[in-house]
Amino acid sequence: MVLEKLVLASGNAGKLKELAHMLKPLDTEVVSQQHFDVPEVEETGLTFVENALLKAREAARVSNLPALGDDSGLVVDALNGQPGIYSARFAGDKASDDDNNSLLLEKLAGLPAERRGASFYCCLVLLRHARDPAPLVVTGTWHGQILEAPRGQQGFGYDPLFLDIQLGATAAELSMAEKARVSHRGQALAKLIDALTN
Ligand code: IMP
Repeated sequence: MVLEKLVLASGNAGKLKELAHMLKPLDTEVVSQQHFDVPEVEETGLTFVENALLKAREAARVSNLPALGDDSGLVVDALNGQPGIYSARFAGDKASDDDNNSLLLEKLAGLPAERRGASFYCCLVLLRHARDPAPLVVTGTWHGQILEAPRGQQGFGYDPLFLDIQLGATAAELSMAEKARVSHRGQALAKLIDALTN
């Protein structure tokens, strides 16, 4: 499938930067939804896929272009999957990344490394148009562990607390290219590109 132009249905600057970087291999013009003044949708779904679909549909409706929705978050084993779809607003509706990271550390205080397992999860939904009945849906999961203190300056969100055990580095210690190779979003996007180009 050839996509001449694609709207990224997200207002999160960190995500937009990563998605635009990873979409470079496609010969597609990538535009952020801010360009079309797409209003922020209420994320009323109970799963990542529902929320990704809501975002993509609104962006496709307003822009009249194909749209890619990303809903992602951190799923922490010891917290029964929290913050999950509420990752952006874990510490409240207007929470900053620092607020969310502090709350996460508080909730895991005293837990040993082996009980600090967590995964980043990403669901990407591509709608060719707002009424597309057959969206392309792909997901990616990145397993790791939550540290007791932040490390690294790159990335966004929970990156400084998320350790990739094999690499021995936090997500915030990886360059954008390194993160894209292993991350939840990178894995999902590789599947999307594969589906679009094969
Ligand atoms: P969404 O925009 O509703 O999908 O919320 C995503 C939230 O999940 C972000 O605000 C971050 O808190 C977290 N998140 C998702 N992906 C990443 C990532 O790659 N690194 C760090 N945090 C992430």
